[in-house]
Amino acid sequence: MYLRELRQPVSELKGVGKSTFAAYTALGIKTWCDLLLHLPRSYEDRRVKVPLRNGYSGKPVNTIVEVISHQYIGIGRNRTLKVIIADESGPASLVCFGRNFLQDLLQIERKFYLYGNFSVKYHELQSSSFEVEPYIPDQKPKLFGSILPIYPLSGRLTQNTLRRDITGLLNTSAKHIQDELPESLRRTMGLMTKYEALHAIHFPNSHEDRELARKTLAYEELLFLQLIVRRRALRRQTETPRKNRVSISAANHLTRKLIDSLPFTLTADQVSVLNEIKTDLFSARPMARLIQGDVGSGKTLTAFISALEVIDQDVPGQAAFMAPTELLARQHAENAARFLEPLGIRLAYLTGSVPQSQRKLILKALAEGDIDLIIGTHALFSKDVVFKRLRYVIVDEQHRFGVLQRIALLNKGDMPDLLLMTATPIPRTLALTVFGDLDVSSIHTMPPGRLPVKTYLAAEKSRERVYAAVKVEFERGHQAYFVYPRIDDTGNSDLRDAETMFDYLTKKVYPGLPAGLIHSRIPEDEKLSIMDRFRRGELVYLVATSVVEVGVDVPNAACMIIEHAERFGLSALHQLRGRVGRGTAQSYAFLIYSDALSPEGRARLLVMKESNDGFVIAEKDLSIRGPGEIAGIRQSGFLKLVAADLVLDHELLTQARKTADLILSKDPGLLSLENTAFREVLSRCPPFDEELTDG
Ligand code: ADP
Ligand code: MG
Repeated sequence: MYLRELRQPVSELKGVGKSTFAAYTALGIKTWCDLLLHLPRSYEDRRVKVPLRNGYSGKPVNTIVEVISHQYIGIGRNRTLKVIIADESGPASLVCFGRNFLQDLLQIERKFYLYGNFSVKYHELQSSSFEVEPYIPDQKPKLFGSILPIYPLSGRLTQNTLRRDITGLLNTSAKHIQDELPESLRRTMGLMTKYEALHAIHFPNSHEDRELARKTLAYEELLFLQLIVRRRALRRQTETPRKNRVSISAANHLTRKLIDSLPFTLTADQVSVLNEIKTDLFSARPMARLIQGDVGSGKTLTAFISALEVIDQDVPGQAAFMAPTELLARQHAENAARFLEPLGIRLAYLTGSVPQSQRKLILKALAEGDIDLIIGTHALFSKDVVFKRLRYVIVDEQHRFGVLQRIALLNKGDMPDLLLMTATPIPRTLALTVFGDLDVSSIHTMPPGRLPVKTYLAAEKSRERVYAAVKVEFERGHQAYFVYPRIDDTGNSDLRDAETMFDYLTKKVYPGLPAGLIHSRIPEDEKLSIMDRFRRGELVYLVATSVVEVGVDVPNAACMIIEHAERFGLSALHQLRGRVGRGTAQSYAFLIYSDALSPEGRARLLVMKESNDGFVIAEKDLSIRGPGEIAGIRQSGFLKLVAADLVLDHELLTQARKTADLILSKDPGLLSLENTAFREVLSRCPPFDEELTDG
């Protein structure tokens, strides 16, 4: 039996009652398999004796003590037992808050194993958080003398419950878990069996033991990840040529016309990305390309130009452009209207809020081939959207969509070309691995004439000075964004919020200046009208939450003020900062941080101050926070990695990649989804089963 097949619900474990079950559910633990994969976040080493005396230095004590006497603090029903104990290094006391029952266990003159955290109170060494176990000569203690796992908890779950349930499984059903890695591979890599690894990661005999267990589980995960990614890449190379590819001779007139009509010239990076896309479009296999480039680097325009290649054909192809929010979709639609409509391109705009009657007309025109380019949101992949000849799918901010959503749109055509765009640059390590099946194009340079945004970090106490500096910018005719981590005052936090600050800024700081408030609870049409008024300059500043994060383009906005900046992730900060510096004026970002700034928060803000380069910021983000946290990658369905760490395990990953290539080259049959052996391998591997639908 494979680990994955232990699908019994945790409620079927002995001793798991209602509250434990609820706590497991909250942790996402549903099955026995989930429970075994709930890995410790750290360990407590109870092999080494730490005498009471060392408690003075704050170290956890791990020793054998004798009970000297019982005392009580307080009187009556509220009195608390205090047990005086000693080991050979000296005395200490255990304060048993709410645990007076310990008087029966901790009998005078008896000996106990003791583990606890001590501190000095009233001139003596005291502990109120400790664990004890009777000392019986010549008998191995249950918890003491070993390395104990410390698990992430929830609700009323305790370490002991988790240890009990996991030990229970390891000693019964889990015993029969089979290996997933082939024996030969396991031996060459010097890895444990799956059962040994599971046992040792929960209850290691030594630190070396634990590290080897983690390596075993991590390698297995990475190998499967690489098998998926490499298989997809290989499959695309060997796919049968498509009949409907774009022909070179027909295209080009409209492209030239558009490029010539632009009031600026394309940057060198835009031109080279366009050439890469063209090569893909003309090739026999469908394109799967990711453009990464900082906000404002001109990705969207590049995508529009490339779409013309597909549309401008003897038999015109259709293109779909999908954006994650209504706001963005509309902005793209407006730009498309500006650039493309003069060329006679037939455009449509489709989102959830398009009225039913209009929607009907659009769908009809789309199905009859009377629309060349449709721009919209998630609404584009709903079932009733049918294309006559969908040839090209463009996805903006691709990480905001799931793999399956992307596929749903692609399936509306016959092997259409796919162009993904992201302003969250993907660090090199991840590009190699997670996105190993995509071709990647990068736009590194910004259009000329843009000045880098100047970034200032400001402490709480300098807030008013920031407001004054922004006022000077207002007097110069510029606009600003103020961003807050919350929408409104929830009453139980010290955080400033958008609603309260809108009030404060409009009444106290900038009276008389028209401003707008924008956040996710404002209705969609109102949001759009506020954005319009801001774009037209009728509103001087916006007070917002991070809804203004992605793609919003107002060149006259020159100041971005982010309060409680440490609350935002690096990529969010970078995206927010990208809202300014889109015109020719000098722009500023003010990151106001709270007094209680953690070292990690400080490190992040310094990265923002020191770099304007999204690629550098993404690499730093990866090293500060780890890959799972990076925007969007978690949702991409790929990185539900349990044991592996893409930063720490880079070496292991490279090995896994080599092995995956070797396996796939020896057995090309594995490339086909009909290959049941491979299906089976995949279905056993929790993070990847959804990929099976990728046909
Ligand atoms: P992105 O999608 O990468 O955020 P956009 O394509 O929306 O960037 O471009 C941002 C702004 O810069 C738009 O107003 C666009 O018209 C303009 N732009 C694009 N390419 C250039 C260029 N080569 N020179 C000057 N401005 C450009
Ligand atoms: Mg964009």
